[in-house]
Amino acid sequence: MDKLESLALKWALKNAVDHEGKASAGPVINKVLGGCGPQKDMKALGKLVAETARKVNSMSVEEQRKQLLSLWPGALDKKEEKPRELKELPSAEHGRVVLRIAPNVNGPLHIGHTRGIIINDAYAQKYAGKMILRFDDTDPETKPPMPGIYEKQVEDFTWLLGHKPQQVSHASDRIDRYYEVASQLLSLDHAYTCSCAREKQQELRRAGKPCAHRGQARAENERSWREMLAGKYEKGDIVLKIKTDLSHPNPAIRDWVAFRVAKRAHPRQGTKYCVWPMLDFASLVDDHDLGVTHIIRGKEHMMGTERQEYVYRYLGWEYPHVFYWGRVKLSGFDGIDKISKSLFAKEIAAGKYTGWDDPRLPTVAGLRKQGILPQAIREFWLQMGLSERDVSASWQALEAINERMNRQKSI
Ligand SMILES: [Zn+2]
Repeated sequence: MDKLESLALKWALKNAVDHEGKASAGPVINKVLGGCGPQKDMKALGKLVAETARKVNSMSVEEQRKQLLSLWPGALDKKEEKPRELKELPSAEHGRVVLRIAPNVNGPLHIGHTRGIIINDAYAQKYAGKMILRFDDTDPETKPPMPGIYEKQVEDFTWLLGHKPQQVSHASDRIDRYYEVASQLLSLDHAYTCSCAREKQQELRRAGKPCAHRGQARAENERSWREMLAGKYEKGDIVLKIKTDLSHPNPAIRDWVAFRVAKRAHPRQGTKYCVWPMLDFASLVDDHDLGVTHIIRGKEHMMGTERQEYVYRYLGWEYPHVFYWGRVKLSGFDGIDKISKSLFAKEIAAGKYTGWDDPRLPTVAGLRKQGILPQAIREFWLQMGLSERDVSASWQALEAINERMNRQKSI
């Protein structure tokens, strides 16, 4: 028997024993290729594996097991797949680490969000610290909080982690505090009000040029800020911007918008406020006030960090340590695009799905209904660890972990 034949036999037997006596060619071919490297004649390999699988599948499971162990004595040893050890966070003091996670409030939590929740929770546990669930609910116009979202997310969290969030914070409860910080920045001349048209602002920003309002007197800024808060302006009339560096290589960092007018009623605050902070602003103030020591988030937030660091410098605050993970390409999770594109609500309304816990959807509630164990989701992400590299993850991988855990549970 040559090397290929013996590899094919070994893996066909293993695959059969793992799957109630039936080996399938696909996974066996992958394993063989893993053992012998790329093959020139894939057709021949396919034929060899198919024949071997046919032979193996004609045997009883007992025979398969016996032959497998004679060729490969350790093949059936139970190997616990250990989640990867989390790498250390710098300056992390036991008992003093504070992390936070702020999922979107305009849609249900889905598999994509669970990575951040689990990694942050794992770090909080590692250092006996805490993770704050922070509701980023300051966008009543374009990302209005979904009805029932607050209770639902706490429920999903609790199921996923096996414990209640240690602290919950609502950004929309802290609007007065954001105004206070904005006033402080105005008094230090690090912010200004701007009533240029949006297109004009974008054009100047791209060109790295100041608008007519950038140089206006502090008293003028403070007066129009008071008028903004008093409801004198409509949506799009005026914004409050943070002064940064107009020659910054990335135009999006140049004098970014921190507050805008939004008069739509908010589910928690009603029409109490007509000026709302942008996400980067609310979140920077909260990280400081809530004592966040480490931020772990997706690398798409790198620009946000850079914007926020200006304000930290202006106010003499210390920015938390930040870590990023790369993008995850999820495959095999049906309906994930619908959820992330917020079409989801429309499809529920149209009767296509029974609700956000429809088991056909990869929402946390849907996965739960489908019988996926929270521990399986945890292991799925922890195996991937924290890396800035982009990774891909498949539904099949999650399902395999879940099946293994279910088997272990029933032993
Ligand atoms: Zn302007």
